[in-house]
Parts: sequence; structure tokens; C-alpha cells
Amino acid sequence: MNDAGEAAQNPSLFIDKVERCYKQGDSSLDILRGADLALWAGQSVALIAPSGAGKSTLLHVAGLLEKPDAGEVYVGDAPTAHMEDAERTALRRLEIGFVYQFHHLLPEFTAIENVMLPQMIRGLTKVEAKRRGSELLEFLGLGHRLTHRPAELSGGEQQRVAIARAVANGPRVLLADEPTGNLDPRTADHVFGVLTKLVQASGLAALVATHNMDLAARMDRRVTLRDGLIVELD
Ligand code: ADP
Ligand code: MG
Repeated sequence: MNDAGEAAQNPSLFIDKVERCYKQGDSSLDILRGADLALWAGQSVALIAPSGAGKSTLLHVAGLLEKPDAGEVYVGDAPTAHMEDAERTALRRLEIGFVYQFHHLLPEFTAIENVMLPQMIRGLTKVEAKRRGSELLEFLGLGHRLTHRPAELSGGEQQRVAIARAVANGPRVLLADEPTGNLDPRTADHVFGVLTKLVQASGLAALVATHNMDLAARMDRRVTLRDGLIVELD
């Protein structure tokens, strides 16, 4: 984790005047037109906007999966827009966790193995990866499901394993793209509950795209995308 001194000065993630435009034949779609957003350690922010507004685009740019056409994305104090692809990939693996609407867990591996894998790829021993993974899954209420495969888990359990996998390497930032969009309301509520508990306990900064206003109301801040800009709600 990052030291408290730095966390006090810099946002965990800072999106600075980001522009993103998709060319389609002769025309172009200006999705982000100078979007600004600071995400602070231990803070959960809901991104609420209609379909097509650019939520996924923003998350991809924030997560270093796409380069902005203009502007800058800082991860901690590191500007990333002009990094080489290999450097961006390395930074993304270390500092950013993703959760999607569908869990994308590896079906032939158990819950604990799915959480161990990214840690072992990073260089941790099997024993250490298992210890940390078990602790994380227990924190998320899955201590009794460690050796189940994804097909043997409920939708809510699968998403909690996906969250554990996303934060297994202790990233600075968690980005989630409609993580409960595929769940019934009660399960979505529970998954959101453990997600916000995790953010508070770990000092992560989380940006979560969602359509669910009730869930968004429980997060620290709410923002939307309007004409390619980020606007604070409330
Ligand atoms: P949201 O997640 O809010 O539904 P997206 O960020 O997925 O919105 O998409 C915003 C707009 O950009 C949509 O109109 C979509 O069709 C368009 N778009 C997204 N990705 C691409 C792409 N790779 N190429 C062209 N257009 C795209
Ligand atoms: Mg989307």
C-alpha cells in the first residue's frame, strides 16, 4: 500500500482534461471532451449515466486500457499518457483492479486458485498467495467456498470472487463496470455492501459504473457524464 504522506497529497487517480473520440468513417464521436475527476484513497465513487454516455470509455481510459486523445491520467503521481505500452501494462497490473458485469473467472480453477493466480504471476509464492487469497475471500464472506469452481457458485458469490481477484495484488484503484448489473436486487445489495466495506478497510479508491440509484446512494460520491464532462451529483 502507499504511504499516508503521499495519499494525503495526491489523489489515487486523477483524470485531467481527458478527451476521447471514436472515428467512424468521415464522422467522429466525441465521447469525452475534457473530463476531470480526482479519486481519493478510501473513497468509493458511483458513476451514473445513461447507456452510451461513455461510462465504459471513461473506465477504460482511467484503467490504462485505452489512451486518451488529449489530457492526462495520473496513477498516484505518475503521468501515464506518454508511457510506452509495456510500462502502462506493468503499471496497470500493479495499481489497477477491474471488475466487469460478467465475472470472467477461469472455469476450471477453484475460487481460491482464481485469486491466487494474479499473485503468483506477480511473483508471490504459492503459500503466500494462498494465505492472502484465503484472507481476502474470508473478508468477502466466502471462507466456506474456497474450493468451489465458478459453476458451483451463485451469481453473487462469483462476483465476490471476481472482486477478490481484482484486488489480490493490493492495487491503488478499483474500477468496476456495472458489477451488479447481472444480479437480482438483493444479491446486488449484498455485493455492493462487501465492496464498500473492502474499499474502506483497504484504502482503495473505487470508481463504479452503475444504473442502480439505491446502491449509488450508499457510496461516498456520485458523478455523471454530461456532454463528455464529469459532473458531480447532489
Ligand atoms: P456506456 O458504457 O456509458 O454505455 P460506452 O463508453 O460504452 O458507453 O460508449 C459510448 C459511445 O461510444 C457509444 O455511442 C458507443 O457506441 C461508442 N463507442 C464505444 N466504443 C467504441 C469503439 N471502440 N469504436 C467506436 N465507437 C465506440
Ligand atoms: Mg458500458
